[in-house]
Amino acid sequence: MLHVNVLSGYFICGASSLVGAAMLRIAETNDARMRKALRLCGWGFVVLALGLIPTGLGEAAAGRAAPQFSMALGTLAGMLLLGAGLVELQGRSLTSAWIAVLLAGSAAVLWLAWRDGARSFGLVFVLSLLAVSSLIAWLMRGMIVRGRDLTERALAASMLSMVVSSCARLAFTLADAGGPRADMMYVPEPWSSVFATLYGVLPMIVATLLLALVNARLHHQLRARATTDELTGAMTRRALRELAPLLVEQQQARQREVAVLMLDLDRFKAINDTHGHHKGDAVLRMAAEVLLAQARVDTLLARYGGEEFVAVVPVDGLPAARRVAERMRQAVEDADWAGRLGLHEGLTVSVGVAMIGLGEDLDAALKRADDALYRAKREGRNQCQIGLAVA
Ligand code: GH3
Ligand code: MG
Ligand code: MG
Repeated sequence: MLHVNVLSGYFICGASSLVGAAMLRIAETNDARMRKALRLCGWGFVVLALGLIPTGLGEAAAGRAAPQFSMALGTLAGMLLLGAGLVELQGRSLTSAWIAVLLAGSAAVLWLAWRDGARSFGLVFVLSLLAVSSLIAWLMRGMIVRGRDLTERALAASMLSMVVSSCARLAFTLADAGGPRADMMYVPEPWSSVFATLYGVLPMIVATLLLALVNARLHHQLRARATTDELTGAMTRRALRELAPLLVEQQQARQREVAVLMLDLDRFKAINDTHGHHKGDAVLRMAAEVLLAQARVDTLLARYGGEEFVAVVPVDGLPAARRVAERMRQAVEDADWAGRLGLHEGLTVSVGVAMIGLGEDLDAALKRADDALYRAKREGRNQCQIGLAVA
């Protein structure tokens, strides 16, 4: 039968907290909020270790104030810091003032209980542990109720395991008549072995999950950067080339057609030359906003080059594609360029339209849209032209 000495459990918990703190030091992220969260969690692990390791080593010092006090205070303070870090990961903050009040409050309550005797101390410690873990679980409720992935749900579950074990410890402590104990674990076997094991491995589990979470968020950020055009918020050319073939395949399977629209702002160079590059950038941002406002949710809109956009639009045939193109052209012409950007000469766009034929690839359709766009430019700009149909 499993038998784990509780003091050894505390020692292992302290040691694995130190490893956890070291692991979090290694994690690299340039996101300020994640850095703050990792720093708080790292300090939480250090404080936990400082509190637990002396107690774990202190079997001979059973009943003495220092090891028990350090264990109780280190556990509460470490968990509060860890909780503050986990809350930060959810985009919220426990202010430093709040953290200081909670830390000072825990120390004061433990001190008062200690003066009242060992049994009060044990009871107050377990009550405080339940209060702190419940507070953290409450602040992490977002991850508990709708965790974004397995890592978030596992982190939430580890915090819930602290709440459940604290509840059980409180019940055992209340029922206990055996008087004070050096390890303060008023829990009968086999549960005390189970809890000691849980506390021994929990810091490593939490640190590993935190690293996985930071990694996943970093991956997500990089992906968003690679797929979103920084200036306009439209899709990047790379994202469009990845997603368009999937959209075409999906739509063609439903007997729907897909149109490619190539949109190039008219005489944009003159805007840069007259008003400066900065105003040119603002015009590009507003043009993307105007075009996106005309795009349905199933439309992909990318900034394809400097002042050139490509829209990939599911439609019911060429007349519908022409209507979408015309709507976009009109929206750019009608936008309030003078009011919003002081661009009194206004702005127009020329559009080349092509239908993607069955089995045709994106590049071939883009080429026909580009030829049509060229014709629109030649014939006076601010108009839509249709690319020749595939033979
Ligand atoms: P056309 O009607 O024939 O399309 O004329 P145009 O002036 O729009 O076309 P041209 O290709 O001669 O000029 C495009 C200009 O777009 C040139 C370039 O300086 C500008 N441009 C490209 N990328 C950016 C950008 O990111 N920001 C700004 N402000 N300008 C850009
Ligand atoms: Mg242009
Ligand atoms: Mg151009």
